[in-house]
Amino acid sequence: MKLKKQVTVCGGAIFCVAVFSLYLMLDKVQHDPARRQNSGGNFPRSQISVLQNRIEQLEQLLEENHQIISHIKDSVLELTDTGAVSPSGHLPFRSSNGSWVLPFDGRAAFLSIKPQDCQFAQGRRSSPAELQMLDVYSLLSFDNVDGGVWKQGFEITYDPNEWDDEPLQVFVVPHSHNDPGWVKTFDKYYYDQTQHIFNNMVVKLTEDPRRKFIWSEISFFVKWWENADIHKQEAMRKLILGGQLEMVTGGWVMTDEANSHYFAMIDQLIEGHQWLERTLGVIPRSGWAVDPFGHSATMPYLLKKANITSMLIQRVHYSIKKHFSSTRSLEFMWRQSWAPDSSTDIFCHMMPFYSYDVPHTCGPDPKICCQFDFKRLPGSRVNCPWKVPPRAVVDANVAERAALLLDQYRKKSKLFRTKVLLVPLGDDFRYDKALEWDQQYQNYQRLFDYMNARSEMHVQAQFGTLSDYFNAVYKANDVAPGTRPPDHPVLSGDFFAYADREDHYWSGYYTSRPFYKNLDRVLESHLRGAEILYSLAVAHARHGGMEGRYPTTDYALLTDARPGTAKEVVVIDYGSRMLRALVGLKRVIINAAHFLIMKNKDVYRFYQTEPFLETDDKRPTQDSLPQRTLIELDPNSPRYLVVFNPVEQDRLCLVTALVNTARIRLLTEDGQTLPVQLSAQWSSAVQMSPEVYQASFMARLPALGLALFHLYDSTDSPMTLRSDTLLRLPTHSQTVHGLDPLPLRTVTSDSDWALISFSLYLVLQTIRRKDDPQVMRVQFQFVTYGTRPSKDKSGAYLFLPDGKAKVGFGYPLRTVFLQAQLFLDCFNHPLLSSVPNDVLSTAFTFYPYAFGPVCVCVCVCMGLPVGLSPAGHGRPGGRTKTFLPPNGAGNGNNPQRPERENESDRLFRLQGQSHALQLNTDGSKEIKAHGFS
Ligand SMILES: [Zn+2]
Repeated sequence: MKLKKQVTVCGGAIFCVAVFSLYLMLDKVQHDPARRQNSGGNFPRSQISVLQNRIEQLEQLLEENHQIISHIKDSVLELTDTGAVSPSGHLPFRSSNGSWVLPFDGRAAFLSIKPQDCQFAQGRRSSPAELQMLDVYSLLSFDNVDGGVWKQGFEITYDPNEWDDEPLQVFVVPHSHNDPGWVKTFDKYYYDQTQHIFNNMVVKLTEDPRRKFIWSEISFFVKWWENADIHKQEAMRKLILGGQLEMVTGGWVMTDEANSHYFAMIDQLIEGHQWLERTLGVIPRSGWAVDPFGHSATMPYLLKKANITSMLIQRVHYSIKKHFSSTRSLEFMWRQSWAPDSSTDIFCHMMPFYSYDVPHTCGPDPKICCQFDFKRLPGSRVNCPWKVPPRAVVDANVAERAALLLDQYRKKSKLFRTKVLLVPLGDDFRYDKALEWDQQYQNYQRLFDYMNARSEMHVQAQFGTLSDYFNAVYKANDVAPGTRPPDHPVLSGDFFAYADREDHYWSGYYTSRPFYKNLDRVLESHLRGAEILYSLAVAHARHGGMEGRYPTTDYALLTDARPGTAKEVVVIDYGSRMLRALVGLKRVIINAAHFLIMKNKDVYRFYQTEPFLETDDKRPTQDSLPQRTLIELDPNSPRYLVVFNPVEQDRLCLVTALVNTARIRLLTEDGQTLPVQLSAQWSSAVQMSPEVYQASFMARLPALGLALFHLYDSTDSPMTLRSDTLLRLPTHSQTVHGLDPLPLRTVTSDSDWALISFSLYLVLQTIRRKDDPQVMRVQFQFVTYGTRPSKDKSGAYLFLPDGKAKVGFGYPLRTVFLQAQLFLDCFNHPLLSSVPNDVLSTAFTFYPYAFGPVCVCVCVCMGLPVGLSPAGHGRPGGRTKTFLPPNGAGNGNNPQRPERENESDRLFRLQGQSHALQLNTDGSKEIKAHGFS
């Protein structure tokens, strides 16, 4: 039961955001031909014939219009009673104690869970991972001791004869990291830099078959491919099929792993993989993630499912890197924490040093490695901060240069269990100039030729792809690719939060640009909704033999802006792309829903310019909040409301629509009147709108289905329940007026609040139902962090507070409390514009207020900070944790240990706060207190 509740609560919270309400806006469809044909002014006599023609055209249009309207009316009235639409279920009734109860209808109220489904969680694991990341965290002191040339590590020594029997195999892997939007927009990066990388790649890799390269951002590659001529395409195809160029990971982007929902992570992976397979017949084998700010355990799970056998990660806390280096655990099998066996295992390589640039990839000493970044040869715009520049490799210095580099290779290889070494060679947007290709490939080839020709050096060095490296590791260990090499550890857990030095925790980006993080989630939920409805519509169309008449709509999507760390102009570019995609997805949803609700699909007609339905909100610009659609009711004819449930279970949910009248009657599809709660729509903090009301009702929605409701402007219906509003104001000085027929009372002191209590800062703390002694405690807290006075400050990436969080918030909050029979609503204004019907958007309605350097962490609803979707959210087996800001300011050299909470804490909190529905012993459900879930 407990578990069932949790599942329902989580499920509801996650998917509630994806409920779309569609309105049949009949008025909208009535074209106004006169206006369209608007010409105005006086016509000379000679144009009378033209006018007559026009009048005829108008009449014709009117006639067509009438036909359209009658089609619409017919189709709406003859709704299908099979397929996607099902009856709305039994009606709620009022019990003797005053609460509304839904009768038990024989259907399961909660998703039933079989005991065997939970076996993985019972703790009986046949082969638990040796390395549990939570244990590793508690083991480490996070002391940041100076390690010498390898500042965050230690001195590495070796015996020169170690490779006498088995030479060191070195794979130098050239790469270029291209962000699809960061300082520049995606397009600007492409035109300024990325296209030149590909153009040079085709020429320079073709010059020598020993040259290799890897590429990971398929979004850029597709753009180049579509602009390239057939000869360049063929040359590129040859390089890929010949193994010189490897597509690594194969995602549309190198996805962020902390903020992204797994749906988006999968989606971008599918996008890239499908393109690669269709266009080139290529299936990526190795994962490459050098720039995500911390690594989620979801990624190895998804990569494994996507047929990838090995993966690489880079941005891991430097203390973890040091620890794993000292125990030679940088290569491990990454296992899901819930997995009972090795079925989810994937081989993972963790890069040991600070960065993926050249100074930090050849070995432990950046001062030496930088000398082997030949783009930095004297005369170049980039140089070595360690003050020793690279030297071109010539006969006179090759012996000394090769020895110096081999020493670094050998030291680095001491951190691994196999005598195979990976040496990435690249950086951000590298290899855009032909000169750099020559500098890197020619100088390295001279070094390789020298080393390989001298057996006493016991080394085999070459350019390689990432899979060349992994294959050599498997071969050296005598195992098949993807299987666990002997003696390599198994690890469970993840690598959040990330710190690259000192106490620079990269958790600031969890909350950067929460508005766009929210827009991205809204977009994803619409994408999922559109996919479902579109598939259902196409299936129905095929079944009915009318495939050609259903519009196949192309929808664009874009999936990288989540960290929120891009420049303003790039953010606007992302926002505009997302809004365009959202508008397109709504069109797909509208068309599909229109088709699906019609009983007689033969009369279906696709309205390109005048959509048949309208969605429940609109966004005028990429940076505006959605504006909800007002349904104007008519006493004579009904308006229709179509509600879509994108979840694969029946669900009971609260639906709210904006209407223009307080006289409302709501009927189910089969004509039964439903109780509707009418509440005020606030036009400002102190003003109820006289023109707009919120109408809310409970509806049972079929799984993946549509339900239809009729709305009438009707004289008082006994089923219309009016909210009684109690308003708590911070001071007496404000006046607020109620509006007939919605009563309003105002209070300023706590004593007047019989049902709920608030903390000092007007934050909700307890709820008690009328006639019910039980007090429900609610966690809802605003805390603020100051920013520290030192040079390094909190920003888009880092979270560097000046100390512990201070409870409280300096805003005068106005609290509105609605008392009504159907549900109960409580919200604060102006901070929270309202508490909408779904939990997630509550946490996100926060965006319009900029906080400058003060980082605000608000625990609303599920205990999630605003704008933060923690890594644990939606991850299979993922664990969540929060970070304790350092105590005391300015102690930059003393990184704090992250404080973690375990999964059961979070579930407890979820449960403690969610009381939307209570299952009674007779199987009926009681609506307790919506709005606090
Ligand atoms: Zn990047």
